[in-house]
Amino acid sequence: MSAAARHPIRASQTPERARRIALFGGTFDPIHSGHLAVARAALRRFRLHQLIFVPTSRPPHKHRRNMACYLDRFAMVALACAGNPKFVISLAESGADHSGREVFYSVDTVRHFQRKLRGSGTRLFFLVGADSFLDLHSWRDYRTLLGLCDFIVASRPGFRMDALRRVIPPEMLAPASGEARPNPRKIALRRTTVHVLDAVSSHVSATEVRRRLDRGHSVHGLVPPRVEEYITKQALYR
Ligand code: ATP
Repeated sequence: MSAAARHPIRASQTPERARRIALFGGTFDPIHSGHLAVARAALRRFRLHQLIFVPTSRPPHKHRRNMACYLDRFAMVALACAGNPKFVISLAESGADHSGREVFYSVDTVRHFQRKLRGSGTRLFFLVGADSFLDLHSWRDYRTLLGLCDFIVASRPGFRMDALRRVIPPEMLAPASGEARPNPRKIALRRTTVHVLDAVSSHVSATEVRRRLDRGHSVHGLVPPRVEEYITKQALYR
């Protein structure tokens, strides 16, 4: 057994000079200003070198009449990334035919990026909103996923950040450090860390954007201008 295997480095103990990349998965149906506020806050707080948006394949639990196809969702994310050199988009969940119809699980997507980045000294984060994290028990192999890389959980109005700890199986938590005032923005697990990103509070949701468009209302300011233009030109969500 190698020395590295005997003494695994906790994801949160990798050197500070390591490249830092966060994956941000989502339906992005469509991408909106709430997503971008969270992404920008994560870039700043964690000094990320890159934030990779991963438009997801059709989620098994989301079946809606007016869901935009993968290509349209991908195009809108690409347009939203324009102008920010650190915002990158990935085809990782597009499937062999790029239709986005294959089902992908986050645990496999994170492993895919870990394989791709192996040896590059990159520290990988997985960015999610609080609503998604609170639903983690329904994700495939969520315990494995929690142990693969650090999480960044962004606050979202209406969701309690003090409930995040309860999502984590107790046996995965690191033993109590004995600190008099534990850091409320960090939950230490045995191998990884869940970081709380509470610098954002955006009420925007894709549901609200679609609802407004369906009623013929403006979504100006709720999505980036290029995305607004794309939605109009392609007559999406009507
Ligand atoms: P929908 O309303 O269709 O459920 P959504 O607005 O939640 O969509 P998703 O594409 O499902 O958008 O979200 C991708 C990720 O972004 C999820 O982890 C979600 O929690 C997070 N997220 C979305 N909107 C916000 C927001 N306003 N603040 C913080 N996190 C958000």
